[in-house]
Amino acid sequence: MQPRRKSKFDLPQGDLALAQVAERYAVSVTDAVMETIDSANPADPVARQYLPSAEELKTTPDELDDPIGDDVHSPVKGIVHRYPDRVLLKPVHVCAVYCRFCFRREKVGPGSEALSKEELQKAIAYIRNTKEIWEVILTGGDPFVLSPRRLRDIMDALNEIPHVQVIRFHTRVPVADPSRVTDELVQALHSEKAVYIVLHANHARELTVKVREATRKFIAAGIPLLSQSTLLRGVNDDAAVLEELFRALTAMKIKPYYLHHPDLAPGTSHFRLSIARGRGLVEKIWGRLSGIAQPSYVLDIPGGFGKVPAGGEWLQEDGEGYAVTDYQGGKHRYKDS
Ligand SMILES: *Cc1c(COP(=O)(O)O)cnc(C)c1O
Ligand code: SF4
Repeated sequence: MQPRRKSKFDLPQGDLALAQVAERYAVSVTDAVMETIDSANPADPVARQYLPSAEELKTTPDELDDPIGDDVHSPVKGIVHRYPDRVLLKPVHVCAVYCRFCFRREKVGPGSEALSKEELQKAIAYIRNTKEIWEVILTGGDPFVLSPRRLRDIMDALNEIPHVQVIRFHTRVPVADPSRVTDELVQALHSEKAVYIVLHANHARELTVKVREATRKFIAAGIPLLSQSTLLRGVNDDAAVLEELFRALTAMKIKPYYLHHPDLAPGTSHFRLSIARGRGLVEKIWGRLSGIAQPSYVLDIPGGFGKVPAGGEWLQEDGEGYAVTDYQGGKHRYKDS
Protein backbone atom coordinates (compact mmCIF):
# COMPACT_ATOMS: atom_id res chain seq x y z
CA MET A 1 0.00 0.00 0.00
CA GLN A 2 1.28 3.47 -0.88
CA PRO A 3 1.09 6.42 1.46
CA ARG A 4 -2.21 8.10 0.68
CA ARG A 5 -0.82 11.46 -0.33
CA LYS A 6 2.36 12.21 -2.22
CA SER A 7 4.98 14.01 -0.23
CA LYS A 8 5.56 17.68 -0.71
CA PHE A 9 9.26 17.09 -0.46
CA ASP A 10 11.03 16.85 -3.77
CA LEU A 11 14.64 15.85 -3.90
CA PRO A 12 16.70 18.84 -5.00
CA GLN A 13 17.53 18.51 -8.70
CA GLY A 14 21.08 17.50 -9.44
CA ASP A 15 21.99 16.47 -5.88
CA LEU A 16 23.67 13.16 -6.62
CA ALA A 17 24.32 12.26 -3.00
CA LEU A 18 20.66 12.66 -2.05
CA ALA A 19 19.58 10.77 -5.15
CA GLN A 20 21.81 7.90 -3.97
CA VAL A 21 20.31 8.04 -0.49
CA ALA A 22 16.79 7.92 -1.93
CA GLU A 23 17.72 4.95 -4.07
CA ARG A 24 18.85 2.99 -1.05
CA TYR A 25 16.34 4.08 1.61
CA ALA A 26 12.69 5.07 1.30
CA VAL A 27 11.91 8.79 1.52
CA SER A 28 8.45 10.17 2.24
CA VAL A 29 7.26 13.22 4.11
CA THR A 30 3.62 14.19 4.67
CA ASP A 31 2.08 17.64 4.34
CA ALA A 32 1.56 17.70 8.10
CA VAL A 33 5.27 17.15 8.74
CA MET A 34 6.28 19.73 6.12
CA GLU A 35 4.04 22.25 7.90
CA THR A 36 5.77 21.50 11.19
CA ILE A 37 9.29 21.91 9.82
CA ASP A 38 10.81 25.33 10.45
CA SER A 39 12.59 25.87 7.16
CA ALA A 40 14.34 28.97 8.52
CA ASN A 41 16.21 26.78 11.00
CA PRO A 42 18.97 24.70 9.36
CA ALA A 43 19.14 22.52 12.49
CA ASP A 44 15.40 21.99 12.78
CA PRO A 45 14.82 18.87 14.91
CA VAL A 46 11.77 17.84 12.89
CA ALA A 47 13.49 18.22 9.52
CA ARG A 48 16.44 16.17 10.74
CA GLN A 49 14.18 13.22 11.49
CA TYR A 50 12.60 13.05 8.05
CA LEU A 51 14.58 14.84 5.34
CA PRO A 52 17.30 12.71 3.73
CA SER A 53 20.92 13.71 4.23
CA ALA A 54 24.14 12.79 2.45
CA GLU A 55 25.45 11.56 5.83
CA GLU A 56 23.31 8.45 5.35
CA LEU A 57 25.74 7.23 2.69
CA LYS A 58 28.32 6.59 5.40
CA THR A 59 28.01 3.16 6.96
CA THR A 60 30.20 1.96 9.83
CA PRO A 61 31.48 -1.63 10.25
CA ASP A 62 29.34 -2.34 13.33
CA GLU A 63 26.07 -1.39 11.62
CA LEU A 64 23.70 -4.23 10.80
CA ASP A 65 20.98 -4.71 8.17
CA ASP A 66 18.78 -6.29 10.83
CA PRO A 67 20.03 -4.46 13.94
CA ILE A 68 17.60 -5.89 16.48
CA GLY A 69 17.52 -9.40 15.03
CA ASP A 70 13.89 -9.60 13.89
CA ASP A 71 14.75 -12.21 11.26
CA VAL A 72 16.20 -14.80 13.65
CA HIS A 73 12.97 -14.87 15.64
CA SER A 74 10.45 -15.09 12.82
CA PRO A 75 8.63 -18.46 12.88
CA VAL A 76 6.25 -17.40 10.07
CA LYS A 77 6.18 -14.41 7.76
CA GLY A 78 4.90 -11.30 9.53
CA ILE A 79 5.54 -12.60 13.08
CA VAL A 80 8.51 -11.91 15.36
CA HIS A 81 8.43 -14.08 18.49
CA ARG A 82 11.32 -13.16 20.74
CA TYR A 83 9.74 -13.13 24.21
CA PRO A 84 7.54 -16.05 25.30
CA ASP A 85 4.39 -14.09 26.12
CA ARG A 86 4.24 -11.61 23.24
CA VAL A 87 4.74 -11.37 19.50
CA LEU A 88 5.08 -8.66 16.92
CA LEU A 89 2.59 -8.88 14.08
CA LYS A 90 3.72 -6.90 11.03
CA PRO A 91 0.84 -6.77 8.54
CA VAL A 92 2.38 -4.00 6.44
CA HIS A 93 5.85 -2.70 5.55
CA VAL A 94 5.02 0.85 4.59
CA CYS A 95 4.80 3.96 6.76
CA ALA A 96 3.29 7.42 6.39
CA VAL A 97 6.82 8.86 6.61
CA TYR A 98 10.28 7.34 6.61
CA CYS A 99 12.38 8.29 9.60
CA ARG A 100 16.03 8.65 8.65
CA PHE A 101 17.19 6.70 11.73
CA CYS A 102 14.68 3.82 11.40
CA PHE A 103 15.93 0.51 12.83
CA ARG A 104 13.93 -1.34 10.17
CA ARG A 105 15.06 0.89 7.31
CA GLU A 106 16.25 -2.06 5.24
CA LYS A 107 12.75 -3.58 5.45
CA VAL A 108 10.33 -0.67 5.19
CA GLY A 109 9.37 1.22 2.06
CA PRO A 110 6.94 1.33 -0.82
CA GLY A 111 8.73 -1.51 -2.64
CA SER A 112 7.92 -4.03 0.09
CA GLU A 113 4.45 -5.48 0.08
CA ALA A 114 1.97 -5.93 2.88
CA LEU A 115 1.24 -9.51 3.92
CA SER A 116 -1.10 -11.23 1.48
CA LYS A 117 -4.44 -12.44 2.77
CA GLU A 118 -3.09 -16.00 3.09
CA GLU A 119 0.09 -14.86 4.82
CA LEU A 120 -1.93 -12.84 7.31
CA GLN A 121 -4.15 -15.87 7.96
CA LYS A 122 -1.06 -18.00 8.60
CA ALA A 123 0.38 -15.40 10.96
CA ILE A 124 -2.90 -15.28 12.89
CA ALA A 125 -3.05 -19.08 12.92
CA TYR A 126 0.40 -19.08 14.56
CA ILE A 127 -0.95 -16.79 17.28
CA ARG A 128 -4.05 -18.97 17.70
CA ASN A 129 -1.96 -22.13 17.98
CA THR A 130 0.61 -20.71 20.40
CA LYS A 131 -1.12 -20.61 23.76
CA GLU A 132 1.60 -18.70 25.60
CA ILE A 133 0.98 -15.58 23.48
CA TRP A 134 -0.74 -13.16 25.83
CA GLU A 135 -0.07 -9.94 23.90
CA VAL A 136 0.03 -9.09 20.20
CA ILE A 137 1.94 -5.98 19.16
CA LEU A 138 1.00 -4.64 15.75
CA THR A 139 3.90 -2.84 14.16
CA GLY A 140 5.43 -2.72 10.72
CA GLY A 141 5.83 -0.48 8.91
CA ASP A 142 2.99 1.37 10.50
CA PRO A 143 -0.25 -0.56 11.16
CA PHE A 144 -2.30 2.65 10.98
CA VAL A 145 -1.67 3.05 7.25
CA LEU A 146 -4.08 0.12 6.86
CA SER A 147 -7.68 0.97 6.07
CA PRO A 148 -10.13 0.83 9.00
CA ARG A 149 -11.78 -2.15 7.31
CA ARG A 150 -8.54 -4.16 7.23
CA LEU A 151 -7.75 -3.20 10.80
CA ARG A 152 -11.22 -4.32 11.83
CA ASP A 153 -10.62 -7.71 10.17
CA ILE A 154 -7.40 -8.16 12.14
CA MET A 155 -9.09 -7.06 15.37
CA ASP A 156 -11.98 -9.48 14.76
CA ALA A 157 -9.55 -12.36 14.28
CA LEU A 158 -7.58 -11.49 17.43
CA ASN A 159 -10.73 -10.94 19.47
CA GLU A 160 -11.63 -14.58 18.88
CA ILE A 161 -8.42 -15.90 20.41
CA PRO A 162 -9.03 -16.36 24.16
CA HIS A 163 -5.38 -16.43 25.25
CA VAL A 164 -4.68 -13.06 23.59
CA GLN A 165 -5.59 -10.55 26.25
CA VAL A 166 -3.74 -7.44 25.17
CA ILE A 167 -3.49 -5.85 21.71
CA ARG A 168 -0.89 -3.13 21.29
CA PHE A 169 -0.24 -0.83 18.33
CA HIS A 170 3.10 0.86 17.68
CA THR A 171 2.54 3.84 15.42
CA ARG A 172 3.90 7.13 14.12
CA VAL A 173 0.74 8.00 12.14
CA PRO A 174 -0.93 10.32 14.70
CA VAL A 175 2.27 12.42 14.66
CA ALA A 176 3.20 12.10 10.99
CA ASP A 177 -0.23 12.14 9.37
CA PRO A 178 -2.88 13.06 11.96
CA SER A 179 -5.60 13.37 9.30
CA ARG A 180 -5.56 9.57 9.05
CA VAL A 181 -6.93 9.32 12.57
CA THR A 182 -10.58 9.28 11.58
CA ASP A 183 -13.57 8.17 13.64
CA GLU A 184 -13.65 5.01 11.47
CA LEU A 185 -10.07 4.19 12.38
CA VAL A 186 -10.75 4.68 16.08
CA GLN A 187 -13.92 2.56 15.90
CA ALA A 188 -12.04 -0.22 14.14
CA LEU A 189 -9.89 -0.64 17.27
CA HIS A 190 -12.80 -1.27 19.58
CA SER A 191 -12.41 -4.50 21.55
CA GLU A 192 -13.41 -6.16 24.78
CA LYS A 193 -9.72 -6.90 25.23
CA ALA A 194 -7.23 -4.31 26.44
CA VAL A 195 -6.00 -2.16 23.56
CA TYR A 196 -2.98 0.12 23.96
CA ILE A 197 -1.35 2.50 21.52
CA VAL A 198 2.32 3.38 21.73
CA LEU A 199 3.01 6.61 19.89
CA HIS A 200 6.43 7.35 18.42
CA ALA A 201 7.45 10.98 19.06
CA ASN A 202 10.91 12.45 19.59
CA HIS A 203 10.50 16.19 20.06
CA ALA A 204 7.83 18.43 21.64
CA ARG A 205 7.64 20.44 18.40
CA GLU A 206 6.07 17.40 16.73
CA LEU A 207 3.08 17.64 19.08
CA THR A 208 1.08 20.19 17.10
CA VAL A 209 -2.57 21.12 17.53
CA LYS A 210 -3.58 18.56 14.88
CA VAL A 211 -1.53 15.85 16.56
CA ARG A 212 -3.18 16.63 19.91
CA GLU A 213 -6.62 16.43 18.33
CA ALA A 214 -5.76 13.04 16.84
CA THR A 215 -4.45 11.55 20.07
CA ARG A 216 -7.46 12.87 21.98
CA LYS A 217 -9.76 10.78 19.78
CA PHE A 218 -8.14 7.56 20.96
CA ILE A 219 -8.23 8.68 24.57
CA ALA A 220 -11.91 9.64 24.26
CA ALA A 221 -12.56 6.09 23.00
CA GLY A 222 -10.99 4.67 26.16
CA ILE A 223 -7.70 3.59 24.59
CA PRO A 224 -4.68 4.34 26.80
CA LEU A 225 -1.68 5.91 25.07
CA LEU A 226 1.99 5.41 25.82
CA SER A 227 4.93 6.89 23.95
CA GLN A 228 8.29 5.75 22.73
CA SER A 229 11.10 8.04 21.70
CA THR A 230 14.52 7.41 20.23
CA LEU A 231 17.43 9.36 21.62
CA LEU A 232 18.92 11.09 18.58
CA ARG A 233 21.94 13.32 18.24
CA GLY A 234 20.91 16.71 16.90
CA VAL A 235 17.23 16.08 17.63
CA ASN A 236 16.71 15.51 21.35
CA ASP A 237 20.14 14.84 22.92
CA ASP A 238 19.61 17.63 25.43
CA ALA A 239 18.12 17.38 28.92
CA ALA A 240 15.84 20.41 28.48
CA VAL A 241 14.51 19.07 25.17
CA LEU A 242 13.80 15.65 26.68
CA GLU A 243 12.17 17.19 29.71
CA GLU A 244 9.89 19.34 27.53
CA LEU A 245 8.96 16.31 25.40
CA PHE A 246 8.06 14.08 28.35
CA ARG A 247 6.15 16.87 30.10
CA ALA A 248 4.17 17.61 26.94
CA LEU A 249 3.32 13.95 26.40
CA THR A 250 2.29 13.40 30.01
CA ALA A 251 0.07 16.49 29.94
CA MET A 252 -1.54 15.03 26.79
CA LYS A 253 -2.41 11.91 28.86
CA ILE A 254 0.31 9.94 27.09
CA LYS A 255 2.61 8.02 29.44
CA PRO A 256 6.27 8.05 28.33
CA TYR A 257 7.19 4.38 28.09
CA TYR A 258 10.56 3.87 26.41
CA LEU A 259 13.48 6.07 25.48
CA HIS A 260 15.46 3.95 23.02
CA HIS A 261 19.18 4.15 22.63
CA PRO A 262 19.67 4.49 18.85
CA ASP A 263 20.10 1.14 17.07
CA LEU A 264 22.97 0.19 14.78
CA ALA A 265 20.90 0.74 11.62
CA PRO A 266 22.94 1.35 8.46
CA GLY A 267 23.77 4.94 7.58
CA THR A 268 22.69 6.33 10.96
CA SER A 269 26.00 7.03 12.72
CA HIS A 270 25.28 10.79 12.59
CA PHE A 271 22.33 10.17 14.92
CA ARG A 272 24.14 8.05 17.49
CA LEU A 273 25.61 9.11 20.80
CA SER A 274 27.37 7.15 23.50
CA ILE A 275 25.55 5.22 26.21
CA ALA A 276 27.45 7.35 28.75
CA ARG A 277 25.98 10.54 27.24
CA GLY A 278 22.52 8.99 27.16
CA ARG A 279 22.80 8.02 30.80
CA GLY A 280 24.02 11.50 31.67
CA LEU A 281 20.92 13.00 30.05
CA VAL A 282 18.56 10.61 31.79
CA GLU A 283 20.24 11.33 35.15
CA LYS A 284 19.78 15.06 34.61
CA ILE A 285 16.01 14.78 34.27
CA TRP A 286 15.71 12.31 37.14
CA GLY A 287 14.26 14.17 40.10
CA ARG A 288 13.62 17.29 38.02
CA LEU A 289 10.68 15.64 36.30
CA SER A 290 7.71 13.81 37.78
CA GLY A 291 8.19 10.07 38.01
CA ILE A 292 5.11 9.41 35.89
CA ALA A 293 6.73 11.42 33.07
CA GLN A 294 9.96 9.34 33.02
CA PRO A 295 10.40 6.64 30.40
CA SER A 296 12.79 3.70 30.77
CA TYR A 297 16.01 4.21 28.86
CA VAL A 298 16.58 0.94 26.99
CA LEU A 299 19.02 -0.71 24.62
CA ASP A 300 17.89 -3.31 22.11
CA ILE A 301 20.77 -5.78 22.22
CA PRO A 302 22.11 -6.18 18.67
CA GLY A 303 21.39 -9.62 17.22
CA GLY A 304 17.91 -10.22 18.64
CA PHE A 305 18.43 -10.78 22.38
CA GLY A 306 15.76 -8.31 23.45
CA LYS A 307 15.72 -4.97 25.20
CA VAL A 308 17.45 -4.20 28.47
CA PRO A 309 17.54 -1.11 30.67
CA ALA A 310 20.58 0.88 29.49
CA GLY A 311 22.25 0.89 32.89
CA GLY A 312 22.64 -0.80 36.24
CA GLU A 313 23.21 -4.54 36.43
CA TRP A 314 22.19 -5.01 32.83
CA LEU A 315 24.91 -2.92 31.24
CA GLN A 316 28.27 -2.72 32.96
CA GLU A 317 31.19 -0.70 31.67
CA ASP A 318 34.43 -2.63 31.83
CA GLY A 319 36.97 -0.47 30.03
CA GLU A 320 36.45 -2.14 26.65
CA GLY A 321 32.80 -1.28 26.25
CA TYR A 322 29.89 -2.89 28.05
CA ALA A 323 29.08 -6.33 29.35
CA VAL A 324 25.37 -6.73 28.67
CA THR A 325 23.13 -9.31 30.35
CA ASP A 326 19.89 -10.16 28.53
CA TYR A 327 16.62 -11.11 30.24
CA GLN A 328 17.53 -14.81 30.13
CA GLY A 329 20.94 -14.23 31.70
CA GLY A 330 22.83 -14.46 28.37
CA LYS A 331 26.01 -12.36 28.10
CA HIS A 332 26.82 -10.02 25.22
CA ARG A 333 29.30 -7.30 24.35
CA TYR A 334 28.29 -3.80 23.36
CA LYS A 335 30.51 -0.96 22.23
CA ASP A 336 29.65 2.64 21.42
CA SER A 337 30.35 3.63 17.86
C1 LIG B 1 10.32 -4.47 21.56
C2 LIG B 1 9.79 -5.77 21.27
C3 LIG B 1 8.70 -6.29 21.98
C4 LIG B 1 7.99 -5.50 23.05
O1 LIG B 1 8.79 -5.36 24.16
P1 LIG B 1 8.21 -4.65 25.46
O2 LIG B 1 9.42 -4.55 26.32
O3 LIG B 1 7.14 -5.50 25.98
O4 LIG B 1 7.70 -3.31 25.01
C5 LIG B 1 8.25 -7.55 21.70
N1 LIG B 1 8.83 -8.30 20.75
C6 LIG B 1 9.88 -7.85 20.05
C7 LIG B 1 10.49 -8.72 19.03
C8 LIG B 1 10.39 -6.56 20.28
O5 LIG B 1 11.42 -6.11 19.56
S1 SF4 C 1 7.49 5.16 11.30
FE1 SF4 C 1 8.63 3.61 12.49
S2 SF4 C 1 8.91 1.87 11.09
FE2 SF4 C 1 8.32 3.67 9.85
S3 SF4 C 1 10.26 4.61 9.20
FE3 SF4 C 1 9.66 5.64 11.12
S4 SF4 C 1 10.71 4.46 12.73
FE4 SF4 C 1 10.70 3.19 10.87
